[in-house]
Amino acid sequence: MQEAREACGGEGYRADNRIAALKADTDVFTTFEGDNTVLMLQVAKGLLSDFRREYRDMNLLGMVRFMVDEVSTRISELNPVITRKTDSEHLRSQDFQRAAFEYRADQMLLSVGQRLQRRIEERDMEPFDAFVDVQDHLVQLAFAEAERVIFDRFTDAVRVAQDENGEELAGTLTTLHQLFALSRIEDDIGWFLEAGYVESTKSKAIRAEVNELCDELRPAAEGLVNAFAIPDACLGAPIATDDRPSRK
Ligand SMILES: Cc1cc2nc3c(=O)[nH]c(=O)nc-3n(C[C@H](O)[C@H](O)[C@H](O)COP(=O)(O)OP(=O)(O)OC[C@H]3O[C@@H](n4cnc5c(N)ncnc54)[C@H](O)[C@@H]3O)c2cc1C
Repeated sequence: MQEAREACGGEGYRADNRIAALKADTDVFTTFEGDNTVLMLQVAKGLLSDFRREYRDMNLLGMVRFMVDEVSTRISELNPVITRKTDSEHLRSQDFQRAAFEYRADQMLLSVGQRLQRRIEERDMEPFDAFVDVQDHLVQLAFAEAERVIFDRFTDAVRVAQDENGEELAGTLTTLHQLFALSRIEDDIGWFLEAGYVESTKSKAIRAEVNELCDELRPAAEGLVNAFAIPDACLGAPIATDDRPSRK
């Protein structure tokens, strides 16, 4: 809503264009039905308790130890050729994008586990206090996991479009999928650079690829918005219906 407001300049601020009112209405989504931060903490705790299901009688420390072992074995070593690879075909490939989301989620899970283990085992903290102490990491972990899940669901949706609607729609959705993946990676590029998952040349190439994808999608943008079939009555804003009163 903020971007829409700014994109419309001063018109976006006018009451009859309703963006300010819609912005006020949508803002509360971060709070009602549960505050977003609290919900993300629950997501992260859910990820940890998945490990407890394997051995129901395990205490928290046992579960954390088990999880650290499990996750560290499934994280693959970084390949220096891949961390420097910058060609467009590679950056747009699902293999690279899927692996990046998976690596980040797994590394964050491992790092949360190691932090909890240190606090409970070495500093003798109560599990509750240890959880509170690592909350910032839990929230980051939940966002990383959510983006991994969204990426996979998007992949499935593109496949369905391919089977049911053919190449044209699937082609546009594929570009949108690539833009989603690369723009999310770009958004968290500090983490990927710190983790050594990408080198600086690759980080710059990702930014350039995001711009390239935006250019490619531009002609389809109106069609994509129209696909939501939002009735004019709901838009109900002069700026959306080109029914603008002249500015005084
Ligand atoms: C418009 C509106 C409609 C609503 N309608 C309903 C309704 O119909 N029925 C109903 O039952 N309720 C309703 N609610 C209440 C709503 O469910 C609560 O406001 C919401 O769950 C958040 O709880 P809270 O207000 O106690 O905020 P809190 O949970 O106290 O959150 C305040 C701040 O504390 C932080 N925080 C809280 N706990 C933790 C934690 N463990 N760790 C770290 N940070 C924490 C949060 O991140 C947040 O920044 C409504 C609220 C609004 C605003």
